[in-house]
Amino acid sequence: MADEHITIFANAGIVDGSLETRRDGMHVLVRNGTIEAVDDREIRAQAGRLIDLKGKTLMPGLIDCHAHVCATTVRLGDNALLPDSLVTAKSMHIMKGMLKRGFTTVRDLGGADFGLQQAVAEGLIAGPRLVICGKGFSQTGGHSDFRGRYDDRPSGWLLSRLGALGAVVDGIEPLRAAIRDQIRRGGQFVKLMANGGVASPTDPVNFFGFSRAEIEMAVEEAAMARTYVSGHLYTAESILRGINCGIACVEHATLVDDEAARAIKAAGAFAVPTLIIFESLNREGAALGLPPESVAKIDGVRRPGLASLETLRAAGVTMGYGTDLLGALHTYQSEEFVLRDQVLPTHEVIRSATLDAAKVLRMEGRIGCIAPGAYADLIVVDGNPLKDISLLTRQGAHIPLIMKEGSIIKDDLT
Ligand SMILES: [Zn+2]
Repeated sequence: MADEHITIFANAGIVDGSLETRRDGMHVLVRNGTIEAVDDREIRAQAGRLIDLKGKTLMPGLIDCHAHVCATTVRLGDNALLPDSLVTAKSMHIMKGMLKRGFTTVRDLGGADFGLQQAVAEGLIAGPRLVICGKGFSQTGGHSDFRGRYDDRPSGWLLSRLGALGAVVDGIEPLRAAIRDQIRRGGQFVKLMANGGVASPTDPVNFFGFSRAEIEMAVEEAAMARTYVSGHLYTAESILRGINCGIACVEHATLVDDEAARAIKAAGAFAVPTLIIFESLNREGAALGLPPESVAKIDGVRRPGLASLETLRAAGVTMGYGTDLLGALHTYQSEEFVLRDQVLPTHEVIRSATLDAAKVLRMEGRIGCIAPGAYADLIVVDGNPLKDISLLTRQGAHIPLIMKEGSIIKDDLT
């Protein structure tokens, strides 16, 4: 066929997080957007491009399981007020940065809409493949409600603003209708703020979000659409309650305890810790304009971060790589690797952004792996990240080649 694109990566050292060591001497054949063959013997093709990696590392494109590509500032209340055109332009810039860091798929936990997803899919925006939920829902006064104590404006307008990562809905039937509408608009899962948060002004971290009946209804609606509910959950109490109501993915899980971790595992649910947002907010949040009431909440969720990873691992919970970054802090996206590497085995940290992330996104076999039939999302790393995970940081400086769905995004090899 005339317009077939074939690329062969020869002499690659494959790292996908499944093993503690690199698989050297591997050969990978890419045809159009898909990986067609992976072999320890040389692969020959009639035509196409041969890239001899000479022992460099080849990894699946990285996956961030918790991001907000429309979060263009740490002040999320202000972000909601920006014109959609400006949010689009700024989120294009954010997505470009993600791709440059080697992230070829990102699950957006509130903000990105079908239009952005489609624009990426059509190649109009250079960015990672988006998996979206639309708006993240909270109750009045919950984690999507950015009105302070003295702000009596209604909140309904949030639903129609691209810069609003979430929307405020109360009651079983209004929430049901809102969930159905997000799914109609292309939402691929449902995000509920089932616990207080840091970036919102009036919900302490120990508050619950939504009644049990509201959460259980959301779980039923998600199941009807053959998908799941992801819950913004910090405390052990709120995690237990959320898991009991059927939430299938626990976002943050920062204040998890042994009992809550075992409950996540027993339910077959996943956890997506997001340590780097708390670290980076702690370092730069106040200077970037994070409101004082939010700054005051940071330490309560930052300090237990590393311990939460150990608790989740001890219970055998599958963890996805998450970052939850906002505005200028997006440059910290790969630093989550380094944080986790302090307490987890390096290959498991890598697996959270590859094979395990694919499980969280329910895209096993399609992303996060180097195997026949998977999207040709591939990154070349100069050096072995199993020995030095910081090779994945520094804004892609050690990633000379990035391929997304068979298209070369970056090539400094030649
Ligand atoms: Zn988030």
